[in-house]
Amino acid sequence: MADNTYDAIVIGSGISGGWAAKELTEKGLKTIMLERGRDIKHVQDYVNANKNPWDFPHRGGRTQEMIKDHPVLKRDYPLNETNLDYWVNEKECPYTETKRFDWYRGYHVGGRSLMWGRQSYRHSDIDFEANAKDGVGVDWPIRHAELDAWYTYAEKFAGINGTNEDFPGYPNGHLMPAMPMNCVEKDVADRLKNITKARVL
Ligand SMILES: Cc1cc2nc3c(=O)[nH]c(=O)nc-3n(C[C@H](O)[C@H](O)[C@H](O)COP(=O)(O)OP(=O)(O)OC[C@H]3O[C@@H](n4cnc5c(N)ncnc54)[C@H](O)[C@@H]3O)c2cc1C
Repeated sequence: MADNTYDAIVIGSGISGGWAAKELTEKGLKTIMLERGRDIKHVQDYVNANKNPWDFPHRGGRTQEMIKDHPVLKRDYPLNETNLDYWVNEKECPYTETKRFDWYRGYHVGGRSLMWGRQSYRHSDIDFEANAKDGVGVDWPIRHAELDAWYTYAEKFAGINGTNEDFPGYPNGHLMPAMPMNCVEKDVADRLKNITKARVL
């Protein structure tokens, strides 16, 4: 019986649960984490990670059958042949919506930490003060300065990626190099930078 006693029980091993378990175990708490989905072994189970489009039967695209079987996921880019195993089976676990809500789930160890893009942007004081300036709701009780060290802690551990743009009023972060852009994206980014620079000046 003593072996089944824990200081903490974490339900779900995704970004929130996984991080909670990390903190609890690092602080010495005996922690059990319960996960409803299948186990996925880091690297060895990423069976499609190094495939090229021509390695897939439909070049990594989506089929009519996939569209029929995923009435919610079909709304967005993640429905495709390269990562089909990472999404809930919509027949077994249909989404319930009272109005449209594009929020796709994956049931497996690691949750959506296996699918997310590692892009997370800091709230600036412009964000924290916007609603009060507009006279909407209640003023945030915190500003960026109070979260700065915590943003850094999370960014460094999770490997948040992106580019520090040095925009006035927008805090830079501790970022891993951004995912490389293709030539079209580069061209659009340069144009946007020029427009933004012109506005700031
Ligand atoms: C394609 C994609 C890209 C994304 N990119 C970004 C990004 O770049 N930046 C960003 O900030 N966010 C991004 N997100 C969103 C981000 O991944 C989610 O906000 C985040 O993972 C939510 O964390 P969570 O712990 O709440 O849920 P999850 O990470 O989904 O974890 C939930 C876990 O709980 C388990 N579970 C559910 N029910 C039970 C149960 N009854 N019992 C036991 N276990 C259960 C699930 O199996 C899962 O493992 C992205 C999401 C997707 C889908």
